[in-house]
Amino acid sequence: MAENEQQTNLAETFNAFAKKAVEDFPELEGKFVIYNARTNTLHGSFDSADEAALLESQQHALDDFKRENGEYYDSAAFATTFKEYHIINYIGRKEGAPSDYNSDEEEIAELFPHELGHIVAPHGIDMCRGENFVECIADAFSILYPEQRRPLPLVLQGASAINDIRHFSSPVLKELSRLMEKYDLSNIQKSPLQAANLAYRASLFYALPPKQLQGISDAFEPVRQAMSKAETTGYFPAMLACIKVILGDDGKNSPVVFMAGKAWLSQFLDEAEKEEWRSNHQPPAFWDSLRKKIKESTPQEETQESLEQRIAREAKDMMVLGRFDQYPSKKINPKMYETKENIAYLQSAMGAYITLRQQQPAMSQEQTIVRARKMAEKPVSSNPRRKIQAAI
Ligand SMILES: [Zn+2]
Repeated sequence: MAENEQQTNLAETFNAFAKKAVEDFPELEGKFVIYNARTNTLHGSFDSADEAALLESQQHALDDFKRENGEYYDSAAFATTFKEYHIINYIGRKEGAPSDYNSDEEEIAELFPHELGHIVAPHGIDMCRGENFVECIADAFSILYPEQRRPLPLVLQGASAINDIRHFSSPVLKELSRLMEKYDLSNIQKSPLQAANLAYRASLFYALPPKQLQGISDAFEPVRQAMSKAETTGYFPAMLACIKVILGDDGKNSPVVFMAGKAWLSQFLDEAEKEEWRSNHQPPAFWDSLRKKIKESTPQEETQESLEQRIAREAKDMMVLGRFDQYPSKKINPKMYETKENIAYLQSAMGAYITLRQQQPAMSQEQTIVRARKMAEKPVSSNPRRKIQAAI
């Protein structure tokens, strides 16, 4: 295909994505831009009088991105703002660089919903809760919009715990997939606004705190060391280092370290059964039993939940799913879940739900939610806050 024909096709892809984004989030009308850094062109919904200024600002944004990320990217997109504009910058693959994708269109379909999540979800781009928090929001949004598109990318998730803890969103995605299995989320997924809110709330409740993320990243230091020498030694020492880490770590992060390390190893373990691999690496005698042990192991089973813990978890699920919200279809407001009144209301609703569930287990869940919301609207006689502390 001729180069200019490819560019035309990409323009169609960008225009279609922008059109749908503006339909789904009307507040983006006239303010949503896709910048194609490969061709220095703009697409989307913007005032043409701003074109020159937009192009100039995005060239600077691109320079900044390259300075921060060096030359070590194969393909990338990132979100920025300029004046009142929200912009997705598309860099695309470097000439001749290997790629995980079969085509540019496939790559865009994967990267852009994540970038849109940064733009439309509450707190999707502000760093007040740290870099990992916003990446969790964007990843959560990307699997909810426009619908769940594919299984969670486990290998990449594991790799990010080792190399790029900022993008390690597995803990949030794991809880989100549990919610998807347990509850019917089709209505939420049909509503882009609800998807954006859910992405934020799931991250608020399930993203790991920065200190714990640092601990997980530190645990994988021996793997990074071994990987840095992989060009001369091959990947085998890194695999062994990773196995040692996930079997040896018994600290409080061990279930997450195990999950991430096993996900990363999974790309090698099947390969390592093959004759060709064995003759190249000549693994030591203990290798086969070790490999088998890893493949069969699952993360430390969670201890059996008590009834109280189960109800607290259920109340938290209802909170994440927005079931206690006073105005569930309200336009996105980044502060919506953080005003004092709103937090007090949500906490009261959760507390009332827990109390009702314990006292009247025969009442349907739906009815319990309705009653809990009603109780939260009036001042309640007992203070439910202490129970909430345990629940959150
Ligand atoms: Zn991101």
